[in-house]
Amino acid sequence: MTYSEAEKRVKVLRETLERLSFEYYVKDAPTVSDYEYDSLQNELKSIEKQYPELITPDSPTQKVGGMAENTFEKVEHTVQMGSLQDLFSEEEMIEFIEKIKNEYKDTDFVVEPKIDGLSVSLEYKNGKLVRGSTRGDGFIGEDVTENIKTIKTIPQIISEDIPYLEVRGEVYMPLQSFRNLVEEQEKEGTEPFKNPRNAAAGSLRQKKSSVAAKRNLDIFVFNIQKIEGKSISGHKESLDFLKDLGFKVIPSYEMYKDTALIIEEIRRIGEGRGKYPYDIDGAVVKVDNFTLRDRLGATAKYPKWAAAFKYPPEEKETTLLDIELGIGRTGAITPVAIFQPVFLAGTTVSRAVLHNEDFIKSKDIRLGDKILVRKAGEIIPEVIKSVSHAERSLPYKMPENCPCCGEKLVREEDEAVLRCENSACPEQIMRNLEHYASKDAVNIEGLGEAVLSKLHNEGKIEKITDIYKLSREDFLEMEGFKDKSADNLINAIALSKEAPLYRVLFGLGIRGIGVKAAKLLEKKFMSIDNIISASKEDILEIEGFGDTMAEAVVKFFSLSKNRELIEELKLAGLKFEPSIKTTSDIFSGQIFVLTGTLQGFTRDEASRIIEENGGKTSSSVSKKTTFLLAGSDAGSKLRKAEALGVKVINEKEFLEMAGIKNEN
Ligand code: NAD
Repeated sequence: MTYSEAEKRVKVLRETLERLSFEYYVKDAPTVSDYEYDSLQNELKSIEKQYPELITPDSPTQKVGGMAENTFEKVEHTVQMGSLQDLFSEEEMIEFIEKIKNEYKDTDFVVEPKIDGLSVSLEYKNGKLVRGSTRGDGFIGEDVTENIKTIKTIPQIISEDIPYLEVRGEVYMPLQSFRNLVEEQEKEGTEPFKNPRNAAAGSLRQKKSSVAAKRNLDIFVFNIQKIEGKSISGHKESLDFLKDLGFKVIPSYEMYKDTALIIEEIRRIGEGRGKYPYDIDGAVVKVDNFTLRDRLGATAKYPKWAAAFKYPPEEKETTLLDIELGIGRTGAITPVAIFQPVFLAGTTVSRAVLHNEDFIKSKDIRLGDKILVRKAGEIIPEVIKSVSHAERSLPYKMPENCPCCGEKLVREEDEAVLRCENSACPEQIMRNLEHYASKDAVNIEGLGEAVLSKLHNEGKIEKITDIYKLSREDFLEMEGFKDKSADNLINAIALSKEAPLYRVLFGLGIRGIGVKAAKLLEKKFMSIDNIISASKEDILEIEGFGDTMAEAVVKFFSLSKNRELIEELKLAGLKFEPSIKTTSDIFSGQIFVLTGTLQGFTRDEASRIIEENGGKTSSSVSKKTTFLLAGSDAGSKLRKAEALGVKVINEKEFLEMAGIKNEN
């Protein structure tokens, strides 16, 4: 990687990591797995290692990821609350220990489980709990005293003989409480927390302590940050002392000198994973002696006297009970493994996607097999392999016909998936309706899977346009609907008629056309009619569109039933208005081709001016072309335009036509 490539990549990685940290620490709602986050962080570390001059103090590799939010009082920590350096192999851990031992022979190390929760500091003055705060960025945290006080295992009063004590601990949500909370959130229809760690963080950072109180949080205390009125010289001694004071200290803290014993203890803690009633994500190895800790010091991110060993994702054996076949909106058949439920990385799992026929074949997964499963990135369950086949089992064969409508399944060349090509297949219809009504498409709030399925079963809805024929009474006849909810849905349906063109396009479910592609189509063609009549070549002019996507669009609109659908939607009142507003329609119906070098603006800018004024651009000159906008060095396009009699204009004329003043 060259220096300039590294510079660019570092910028992208830092921006991404900052955004992910914000989602994780401030919003308590991560959008990627820890594994993905760590991979990006490791990539950044290795680039910074190659080009140390790119390291800045605010790089995510150099500072603690969290931050204090304004909704809470800020607390300046008396002692820095660092993170921990992560080590992913026993070799790295041995290296860490031996390096310290080389300098300080006979060092004692304490090994503890690493609890997966969020770090807090608790301050006691003259025996009274006076403040509880979050870690924040390690220097400034948030005052969450009221919420801390709801945790029953935190003593509010300790011995008065200690004028000042600050301890650090990990607030966590016990797994059973997490399961109960998720169940409740699902029932209420609110977005459930992704894992116990985020649930703990989200609960402790509630504005109302009555909400935090209901969440059943707990704590393990693992450090004395500062103490007055008593002298303690080592970590183990300090934890024993805290225990005597009534704190709930970390469940195990064994002290060793011998490196091999430390590694053995790390393995022992790891083997117990899955059996504890709380999540652990590693083991922490710490120097015991406080004087030595001071000598070793800290970076801005973590102390040099401790390191965390991170365990690889947990794996479990279970039995494959069935392979269910899901049918997507494009007819793609996705096999899903249904297995005996197992408890993995904090939740019970019983299903995992098997992707396609080839995936099953390559792993020779058969019904009844003992299989090995894990959670990829601690979030998505996956089948790693078949451990042993069931007696007399046969290789799994995908069915030849659609499990829903019976149509023969097709596997296209270069495709791994089997598809049901019957667009009248009820499952596909349902998926398509769900997709059309979804948030990123026309966004009909309340029209989700359950309601659509009921309407479909009652024969009230068969295709997208039927949505616009639904009446208030149709909903009122359904169980669970009252006047208000029926009105809300009817309003949401009416509102969806205003959905901008690109959202409707996305909602139509054209294969390979996501929101971004739909936006590009909208920007290029500005109206549904232009899109319908666009040729493959016209579409290919859009940067980012390849043959497959262009062909999918052309094929979709070449089918008369799809064109009829658009007409019916228009009759139902859909506006199909582009989200990009045209500033005028002076170029309406006109097609421009750009050629040569323009002086006053780029071609993209010229295209934007044309589109904003209702016109279209095309890359090739044909009889349909209205104007050729020619800059200097125009070549073959100019000759072709002249041959076809297409009017050629220069930049000045173009600006005049667009009503833009030429400053030059
Ligand atoms: P960390 O959570 O991995 O480790 C440091 C923390 O461990 C300390 O703050 C401490 O509170 C805690 N801890 C638990 N038990 C302990 C013990 N016995 N002794 C000492 N400390 C103990 O580090 P971090 O900097 O808070 O967070 C990094 C982690 O967060 C990574 O695993 C990363 O993947 C994850 N993360 C994920 C995302 C995402 O988007 N998924 C974003 C940001 C961070």
